[in-house]
Amino acid sequence: MPEILYRKWRPRTFGEVAGQEHVATTLKNALTTNRVAHAYLFAGPRGTGKTSTGRLLGKALNCTNRLEGEPCNACESCLDYLAGRALDLIELDAASNRGIDEIRSLREKVAFAPGAGEYKVYLIDEVHMLTDAAFNALLKTLEEPPPHVVFILATTEAHKLPATIISRSQRFDFRRIPLAAAVARLQTIADGESIKAEPAALELIARTATGSLRDGANLLDQLATSYGNDLTVEHVRAGLGLIGDERAGRLARLALQGDLAGGLTLIASVRDDGLDLRQFQREIIDELRDLLMVKSGLDPAEGATLERLADLRQAVDGVAIATLLTALRSFGEADMKQDPNSTLPLDIALAECALADGQTVTQANAQRRSSAPPTGQSAGPGQGPPAGSGRDPQTVRQERPASATPPPMTSRAADPSSGNGIPEERAGYSWPAASAESAPEPAPPEHIRRTEDAPAVQTSPPNPLSDFGERVPEGGLETGSARSDVEAVRAQMRPIFEKARAAGFQLGALLNSGCDVIEAGDGAVVVGFRHPVHAAKASEEANAASLSRVFSEVLGRPVTFKAKQSPDVADWKARETAGRSSLVRAAQEMGARIIGPGDAESEDPR
Ligand SMILES: [Zn+2]
Repeated sequence: MPEILYRKWRPRTFGEVAGQEHVATTLKNALTTNRVAHAYLFAGPRGTGKTSTGRLLGKALNCTNRLEGEPCNACESCLDYLAGRALDLIELDAASNRGIDEIRSLREKVAFAPGAGEYKVYLIDEVHMLTDAAFNALLKTLEEPPPHVVFILATTEAHKLPATIISRSQRFDFRRIPLAAAVARLQTIADGESIKAEPAALELIARTATGSLRDGANLLDQLATSYGNDLTVEHVRAGLGLIGDERAGRLARLALQGDLAGGLTLIASVRDDGLDLRQFQREIIDELRDLLMVKSGLDPAEGATLERLADLRQAVDGVAIATLLTALRSFGEADMKQDPNSTLPLDIALAECALADGQTVTQANAQRRSSAPPTGQSAGPGQGPPAGSGRDPQTVRQERPASATPPPMTSRAADPSSGNGIPEERAGYSWPAASAESAPEPAPPEHIRRTEDAPAVQTSPPNPLSDFGERVPEGGLETGSARSDVEAVRAQMRPIFEKARAAGFQLGALLNSGCDVIEAGDGAVVVGFRHPVHAAKASEEANAASLSRVFSEVLGRPVTFKAKQSPDVADWKARETAGRSSLVRAAQEMGARIIGPGDAESEDPR
């Protein structure tokens, strides 16, 4: 696609850089105070001004008449840059020149003094595409950059860069351009091109471009070519029928309606189309925020067309504000950072909305059984739970034993018909079905009891006593004294762990190794360890004695610590995490019963 308008209307000053004020201001200050770094990393989505800003920085560095960090656009050097003939700006597109040869030749040339100005600027676009060898060569240059050289590394995928490169660069994160800024910039371009476009038309273009000024300018160009220089909102809508994407808005509505199946299908389609899921998440949140404002009787902050206002009003008709808030919170908390290609956080957020929509546990379980046969692992390739994810259920999932081998995945993981993560998440963490522990359990109610047709339901109720005991409905827990002793000790596992860790690295590591209290009483506490090595280590006289002391101190009574190997034991941390899960809380608030303490880890082998 030609990018005539976008190129023609690249910003000529930092002041014209749309929507990246944080970057522009910092760079201007650096120029003013002569504190320009030797390497910059410009990270962010495409079309947000990374290369434009890089060229701008090169121009400003060599401008002989710079004023408050801004290039003058009039001196000889500036004119060279504007005409695209500046010798001291060397651009390399790593997408097409990935190899070591380019970087080697770059290294050799780096040593030469700039041709005309004071600085030589190397602008490497899509730098994450470089080969490892090329990275190493680049790194050597970054380690000892000649004083007259500035590197600008631009990338849409900063997470693919070696840490060594990142650590040697000053990083700027370019963000999607806010709607108002994009509209203003499009207005400038339209004015300059004598395109008369209705404000609503420009807004629609900017919305569709979802934060990419390049896309916005290209759309404006295309539409003006198709419909002439008098652009109405109808023109734009007609044109957008082919290119628009309003699925974020649709998903927001499905979430409010509690339509789990429809929503999961839609999320899968967005992922299958290769769209940026994080951007998708942002748009969902934007939409929900707009809906909340309309529900509150306000106009959306960004301004909206009358038609859109009517559409928003219709969408929130009959929707409770609490439902909107739940949806906003759920999608806002979805952590997409760890694995930008995983739909799982969005799937979970959607399920939380569906839960909050007033479904009972029974209904949800019934729906789960009928709509999603338990195929085991919900995450397909590339959908693994992010390490250290902020989303509790994932953290729990991650710690499941590897033996829970998923069946071969033949369909896309987010396809609701193929056993998506949500139903299992629900099953696993909101209303545990049964306990794997040996202690006697009350029979679970019929509708929750594990059945032959749902063997995948695990057994991992959170411990309700540690943090949310007050929420547990009457009768949901066993009351036997042995059980309550175990629970009482379990509730103290966090302070016990902290104390053990303070007492010695190894003690802390032991209690951090997949273990939980399995028996308590008669002056003894038995901790089950999943791995025999850990059980043996904890049984060693010195360790057992130290742990006895730690347990006694925290519990306020003398107890003897005993270790036992217990392959199926829960990890107390996973239980704690699950206990904090908002999904669980939501379920509890809706009356879901905690059937008994259990094992966050003991996913049934299958
Ligand atoms: Zn100048």
